[in-house]
This record gives sequence, structure tokens and C-alpha cells, in this order.
Amino acid sequence: MNQEPEKIQPPTRCPKCDSAIKVVPSGISKRTGKPYSSFMSCTNRECEYTARLTDKPQNTGEQMIIEGINNIIVSQKEIWKLLAVIKNKLDDLDRK
Ligand SMILES: [Zn+2]
Repeated sequence: MNQEPEKIQPPTRCPKCDSAIKVVPSGISKRTGKPYSSFMSCTNRECEYTARLTDKPQNTGEQMIIEGINNIIVSQKEIWKLLAVIKNKLDDLDRK
């Protein structure tokens, strides 16, 4: 009996926009000179979906953090809007 360990298959379609997913192997960034681990990236340039790939079995906690970060990136514009509102309130307080 030769049972292969179950491998986690990376998705081939973007969960956000259903475009093809490309896998970027780990290497050194030419832009920043810093090493990075392999990751998946959506081929749709307007989508910005990325997820890190690890050789170890996926830690669900880490996966949740990655998804959380992706959600934050998506809602970044919303956060900036909220911060602008808060800043205006604080400016009002300063004037009083
Ligand atoms: Zn996408």
C-alpha cells in the first residue's frame, strides 16, 4: 500500500472574481531586495487577490489572518472615509 499524503490543492480560480490564479514561486523581490515566500495571485489586475502558499499544512489561524488582511485591503477606502470623518470631529473639538 502506498498512500500519498493528502495534499492541499491551491485554487485555480480566484474566489473573488473567478479569474485564473497564478502561483508565484518564492524568491527575492527585485524591487525591495527582500525574500518572499511563494504566493498565489489573481491574474485580474483590478482584483488584487493574493494568498500566501506554504509548504507546511495550512494553519487555519494563519489562513484566517490572510483572509482578514485581504478584506482590510478591499475595505481600505471605507476606512479612509471613516478616518476623515473622525478627523473632522476632532478638528471641531480642537476649535472649541
Ligand atoms: Zn480575482
